[in-house]
Amino acid sequence: MADCTHDCSTCSSNCGTRSQTSLIKAPHKGTKVGRVIAVASGKGGVGKSLVTSLLAVRARAQGLRVGILDADITGPSVPKAFGVTARATGSDDGIFPVETGSGIKLISMNALLDREDDPVVWRGSLIAGATLQFWTDVIWDELDILFIDMPPGTGDVPLTVFQSIPLSGIVIVTTPHDLVEMIVKKAIGMAEMMHIPVLGLVENMSYFACPGCGKTYEIFGKSRVDDLREAYHVPAAARIPVDPTLSQLVGEGRIEEADTDCLAKVYAEIAHSREIKNYLG
Ligand code: ADP
Repeated sequence: MADCTHDCSTCSSNCGTRSQTSLIKAPHKGTKVGRVIAVASGKGGVGKSLVTSLLAVRARAQGLRVGILDADITGPSVPKAFGVTARATGSDDGIFPVETGSGIKLISMNALLDREDDPVVWRGSLIAGATLQFWTDVIWDELDILFIDMPPGTGDVPLTVFQSIPLSGIVIVTTPHDLVEMIVKKAIGMAEMMHIPVLGLVENMSYFACPGCGKTYEIFGKSRVDDLREAYHVPAAARIPVDPTLSQLVGEGRIEEADTDCLAKVYAEIAHSREIKNYLG
């Protein structure tokens, strides 16, 4: 498997990659994407949407054409962080994403609902179908990177996304008070089964830096991210502090003003990850 070129047409092996390839769906014909990065977590509320948004802001600041596919259908929070209230429009041909202030393209269930606080009470199969439509029916145009804010966990919906959308890599978000090791192990196991590289581990709410004395406190427990990065051979790790400025920027829809330097190493791995064109035939 080490020599796998992902070109099944010239290989006779009946491996996991072959079955995965057959499930992969092509994007809308009006879409051309360089890299697709999934941001995943073991459970909700750990800051997955925040990390997705910050990575997209960083990529956009480098001058790239960036999109965010908010696959957290039942808890979509990305539009709010960007202060986007516009509704997506469509034609017979497909759906057009909305745009943030800096020009990041964005699709989210919130952009399709009549009222953004309407609940989505759908069964898993419908949710998975809607998520895939964000890939197959949205006209993304030309993008350098599309970030996918994954639904939390390793259930049906994330599994469908992992199997159906060609991914350049995954970023895993945890917090120190999570069952970190188990979550990282599960996520890495799932990614390995699908032959998708884990590019980075992000430990959110990793510490608090006292603005008065400058001392740092690991208020939710000792950081494990560097040990885990080494143990599981993940190329990059990042720590994001508990930061009232961040939650204020999210609350006010001004995430594009946030400092993204803490994610520099993880972003560098994303920028050099594999392009998806090789997986679409
Ligand atoms: P998830 O996508 O994992 O459900 P979110 O990114 O929506 O989590 O974060 C949950 C809430 O916690 C949001 O209101 C967010 O602004 C806040 N939050 C996340 N990380 C931090 C942080 N490091 N500092 C301050 N607030 C944070």
